[in-house]
Parts: sequence; structure tokens; C-alpha cells
Amino acid sequence: MIRVNRAALCYRDLLQLQGYYPRMKYPVILGHEVVGTIEEVGEGVTGFEPGERVISLLYAPDGTCEYCISGEEAYCHSRQGYSEELDGFFAEKARVKVTSLVKVPKEVSDEAAVLVPCVTGMIYRGIRRSGGIRPGEMVLVTGASGGVGIHAIQVAKALGAKVIGVTTSESKAPIVKKYADYVIVGRKFSEEAKKIGDVTLVIDTVGTPTIEESLKSLWMGGRLLQIGNVDPSQAYQLRLGYVILKDIKIVAHASATKRDALETLKLSTKIEPVIAATVSLDRINEGYELLKSGNKVGKVLVKP
Ligand SMILES: [Zn+2]
Ligand SMILES: [Zn+2]
Repeated sequence: MIRVNRAALCYRDLLQLQGYYPRMKYPVILGHEVVGTIEEVGEGVTGFEPGERVISLLYAPDGTCEYCISGEEAYCHSRQGYSEELDGFFAEKARVKVTSLVKVPKEVSDEAAVLVPCVTGMIYRGIRRSGGIRPGEMVLVTGASGGVGIHAIQVAKALGAKVIGVTTSESKAPIVKKYADYVIVGRKFSEEAKKIGDVTLVIDTVGTPTIEESLKSLWMGGRLLQIGNVDPSQAYQLRLGYVILKDIKIVAHASATKRDALETLKLSTKIEPVIAATVSLDRINEGYELLKSGNKVGKVLVKP
């Protein structure tokens, strides 16, 4: 049992509310991103003590199968998702499974820690799976002012990249510029990106509205890391020529493992959490209004 220090709102909540998550049990408590303090430890649980600060993965793996043992617990057949099969974290206290817990080092703030499972750690995992970042490599981030994008810039920078941030909002460009080396404003960004340099990794946090330009932005041998899907009802028709003739690798995914979480926590002192607002549980709808309005930079947090 943990006391929730911070939880976070996510676009996934909105997709869940629209019925895109078929594994959800009803009723279920929403919220899949959390940092908390352990209050009580279940019988037979070892390795965790009351008073310790922890984050939880987005899901609880069984901890015993071949995927779990090899450190790829995201692929566990019997994993259960928080706010899907298991109650989530929009609460004062939450019950969590020990298989999903990762300890938070003292020097990492609650704000930085709560971003790890679904934002910074998820991005870190994607970069790792796409082959890592070479020093000085040119990385382009779409949706750069969003809750994922503004932190994707920082994770890529912390790993040694030069970063181009793409936003559709002129008014948000100065904030993106604070973190990125270059900023492009607009929906057609590939031509301008090519003028800046050879982009060999695109972190696309938007989805169908940007994937075409993302692919066009890439130089040969590049990788597209697809982590955004703002409108799952939209299909995208992939022209294979883009990926075949340019040796493109597409990596797509949605969550972090414990290894990713631990490595990201170590990196987290180099990442400044960008928080659009922190709301209380009874004002959570105001947080969702802010999320839907697009009129914000960074993540919306919940402090119970
Ligand atoms: Zn999330
Ligand atoms: Zn497993």
C-alpha cells in the first residue's frame, strides 16, 4: 500500500474514457502514473520497507516467466495494467503489486519521478530499442511542447543528441527553444529539418497527423520512434518506398521496464520536469480540460 505523492494525467486516460482499452474492468480507478511512499508492506514481501519512495511501472508483471526473468517484463503474458485490470492511482492511497515497484533515489524529485513510467522512461526505452543515440546525432521531436515531447527533447539531449523541436504553435516556440537546439513551427517540417542537418532519429509523439513528415525528415539509415497516437481512429497508409529505399527502421512502443526506469532515474537529475499544472483529486476535471484544450506546455499532475 502506498500513499500517492503525485499521479499524472495522460492522453491515454482520454482514450480509455472513449473505450479504446478493451481490457479495462469496470468499475476501475483511473490513473497509471504514480510516485508514492510505502505505507504498508504485504505479508511475505521482501526488499521494500514502509517510508521508501517508489514509482510503479504501468503494469504489474508476474515476475516469474521467461520474459520477466530476462528483464523484458513488458512482454509478460500475464501482466496486468494499472487503470485497466488493476485499480489505478487517482486516489489518496493505492494498492500496488511488488513486481511493478522501483525505488526512487533521494536526489530525484517527486515531479521527476512521476514522469518516468509513462514519459521519460518510456522515451528512454524507445531510444534504447532504436539503437541508442550517437554523440551529436540530430534528433527531431514532434509535438515538442506536449507533455511527452518537451521531455523527449530533454532525454535525447541528456543522451548527447542535438535536437530539433517541432511544434504547430507559434506561441509555444519560445518554451520549446529553451530545451531544443532548433525549433520548427508548422505542420510541414521535413524540408526545413533537412536544411538543418541529417536527421537520423525522429521521436514522433503525435501519430497520424505527423508520421508522413516524420518519415520524410529522416536521412538514410534513420529510425522512426513512434510513441504518439493521438487519434487511434485514423489510419495511415505507409508507402513502403520511403522505408525501403532509405533503410528506415520503425520502432514503436508504449511502456518502460524496470531496467529502463532505473536507468532513467539516474538520468533524471539532468531533466527538468515541465509541469503545466498540479490539480487536487476533486479538481481533476479542470486538469482534463487543460489537457484537451492543448493550451499548455508540459504534464498535468495530480496531488491528492
Ligand atoms: Zn500515461
Ligand atoms: Zn512474466
